Amino acid sequence: MNILILGSGGREHSIAWAVMQNPKCDKLIVAPGNAGIAAIADCADLDILNGAAVVNFAEENAIEFVIVGPEAPLAAGVADRLREAGVLVFGPSEAAARLEASKSFTKEVCDAANAPTAGYGHFTDAAAAKAYIQQQGAPIVVKADGLAAGKGVIVAMTEAEALDAVDDMFGGEFGAAGAEVVIEEFMEGEEASYFVLCDGKDALPIGTAQDHKRVGDGDTGPNTGGMGAYSPAPVLTDEIAQKAMDEIVIPTMNVMAARGMPYQGVLYVGLMIKDGQPRLVEYNVRFGDPECQVLMMRLGAQALDLMQAAAEGSLAEMRVNWADDHAMTVVMAANGYPGAYEKGSEIKGLNALPETSSEMCFHAGTLEKDGQIVANGGRVLNITARGATLAEAQKRAYAMVDKVDWPQGFCRRDIGWRAL
Ligand code: ATP
Repeated sequence: MNILILGSGGREHSIAWAVMQNPKCDKLIVAPGNAGIAAIADCADLDILNGAAVVNFAEENAIEFVIVGPEAPLAAGVADRLREAGVLVFGPSEAAARLEASKSFTKEVCDAANAPTAGYGHFTDAAAAKAYIQQQGAPIVVKADGLAAGKGVIVAMTEAEALDAVDDMFGGEFGAAGAEVVIEEFMEGEEASYFVLCDGKDALPIGTAQDHKRVGDGDTGPNTGGMGAYSPAPVLTDEIAQKAMDEIVIPTMNVMAARGMPYQGVLYVGLMIKDGQPRLVEYNVRFGDPECQVLMMRLGAQALDLMQAAAEGSLAEMRVNWADDHAMTVVMAANGYPGAYEKGSEIKGLNALPETSSEMCFHAGTLEKDGQIVANGGRVLNITARGATLAEAQKRAYAMVDKVDWPQGFCRRDIGWRAL
């Protein structure tokens, strides 16, 4: 099978790594890829937001299966264009991708599905939004409706903060994404992510994970794209996961199918768990980054079969071959991230890292320059390891981190603290 993966982060490196282990994979191209991906697959320069260009590329390269990594091409309808051209694709349609691209759409689907989630109001003008905040009181959560790269959510502990957030959003701080605003009840509890493959009719869970959003040890400092993750997430017990499936995922899929926009791809179900009850925080229509890295390490070669079955509509026949293991990924980022950081510093010591089915350094923002690997983004490396216990996975991951010679980079030293 000739396969094309769209994307350029650690998520896509880990998907490529898993796919390459499956003997079914004859040829793999990743567009645009990064320096780590280039070491295991062909990389191609391609505008992945341009559906026509992606279809042309797939046809020219006899691609039989396309796996879409990030949300932007999905929201731009790239999966639809591929499907129209008869190319098998893993990832939802533009219509179904609204589960991530519009928070008010998701809330309204949850209403129709009777899925447990935060109570909310949806506003198109500031006065009504402010009146709602004054009526509800704080804490309260103010969200720009559209995609804002994780920055469009203000968890306001005071009413004044919430009112300011409304002014910022309607004032254009988040561009078109903030033209509509969703205001939500503040939910208490512990967050965890649940990953489910969907083929439009059936759903198959493929694992749980917990992310670390804050930049500093002990969950301090500003929010980031994610500084590390581990799987499984012990807070998401089998019983709670089953509840999430029965009360949230399946009813959502049914509503989507009934509306003529069946959901196909991976559904990232962000949950808040309290007293044994899961409630939906958000859906994402793609794998999380860095959660994907731990899921791929645990799934290995079968990830390709599972994604293919989701794309073909044959998930009902699939089973996940679970190993009783744990995986952890530690993100190494450029000094200064998530604020201003420099690009171009050389990263040494990568050749000394093991590359096994249990230890991998997935690249995120890297570039090869004159035979050297240099940092080319905020989050740069995802040091990922597996073990019989989470403690073992953690020990292996940090042993690898300590071999990386990169004074211009840093990482959190406490990934996994909640579970350990
Ligand atoms: P990201 O893609 O970074 O996860 P997003 O922009 O899609 O973010 P959400 O996931 O909806 O936004 O919210 C971001 C974070 O804000 C959540 O992970 C959670 O910690 C917090 N949050 C969101 N909604 C609520 C809520 N109703 N109650 C409490 N916390 C919330």
